[in-house]
Amino acid sequence: MLLISCPNCGPRDETEFHYGGQAHIAYPENPNELRDREWAEYLFYRENTKGTFAERWVHSTGCRQWFNMLRDTVSYDIHSIYAMGQQRPDLQADKPGEFSQTGEFGQEPGLAPGAATTSTGAATTAPTSSEGV
Ligand SMILES: [Zn+2]
Repeated sequence: MLLISCPNCGPRDETEFHYGGQAHIAYPENPNELRDREWAEYLFYRENTKGTFAERWVHSTGCRQWFNMLRDTVSYDIHSIYAMGQQRPDLQADKPGEFSQTGEFGQEPGLAPGAATTSTGAATTAPTSSEGV
């Protein structure tokens, strides 16, 4: 169970919130000019990040406001909560050395908790400059 800090209401139980998918998907400037494939990619194609992921949430049983969250999809750690329209925070600048996992491919799949720790340790040696997608 997650404890999510709503920017308006404070810490609340996960059951009060709904997930809204990947954050920072810009609406196309000229949607009528898109071909079907480009429109379908805008609508349906999303990243499936292993690691830190920017996503939208809504406090559906509280203030009903949307906000963005940086969450680790492996450990469920919430790194940052920020307003809609704000840029994704740079975790490297905020807390150096703590969030080096980029979710890039090449990590070994970890099914057991011990294996996940190993995979996280291996990821910390990888270059982290590719964050910020
Ligand atoms: Zn709220």
